[in-house]
Amino acid sequence: TRRKLVAGNWKMHGMAADLVEVEAIAAAAARHSGVDVALCVPATLIAPAVARAGALPIGAQDCHAAAKGAHTGCLSAAMLREAGASLTIVGHSERRADQNETSQDAWAKAAAARQAGLSVILCCGETEAERDAGRAERVVQAQIEKSVPEDASGDWFTLAYEPRWAIGTGRTPTLDEIAAIHAIARAKMRQLVGDAADGIRILYGGSVTGTNAPAILSTADVDGALVGGASLTAEKFVPIIDAAA
Ligand code: 13P
Repeated sequence: TRRKLVAGNWKMHGMAADLVEVEAIAAAAARHSGVDVALCVPATLIAPAVARAGALPIGAQDCHAAAKGAHTGCLSAAMLREAGASLTIVGHSERRADQNETSQDAWAKAAAARQAGLSVILCCGETEAERDAGRAERVVQAQIEKSVPEDASGDWFTLAYEPRWAIGTGRTPTLDEIAAIHAIARAKMRQLVGDAADGIRILYGGSVTGTNAPAILSTADVDGALVGGASLTAEKFVPIIDAAA
């Protein structure tokens, strides 16, 4: 059976003054030995967050696919690892939208992160237009096919299903809709990596709160949550960790 993982994604939020929240979240995580917790902070906060996080894994939100090179402003997975990150998100829909990243890019970034010793949370998810057109399942299947590395396994790889229209909107799919996508996602991963798929966690992300977390986290095939806005403070994030425990 898969341990639940509750991961926070601070996105472009977080200054030194917010490190008190890291400390409070780490303290709450330490109280729950049965659930994994991680926090993906802006790269500028990785080192100071690690210094205050105790056993709480601190992650990045993206990495470059190359090990080094002429890529002004970018960060390699090894740099993030050296700063103290133990995981990174790749393929987040905001990067797909803002930086035109593709599933192929996410595949390459996941491989680079793995190479540098980082665990990976790889994101997929349909747009609202795609869902309205009845294409959500096919879109997610295609994203998985193009982005999940062939050596993916649960010890380093996690998939996150984040419908784009549910991110930051307060809207979520129904529990049946979440279960349906998670089931097809796992079936697709089994095609790609075989039995290893059974050990890979699939997180739900998109407007998760302390209020809806208990129901979402007890939905079939939901192995945790990837949380944006509600991960910014311990007050909002800890109830989600509690719900997973
Ligand atoms: P919200 O929880 O703010 O909807 O963001 C979800 C998300 O994109 C996490 O990666």
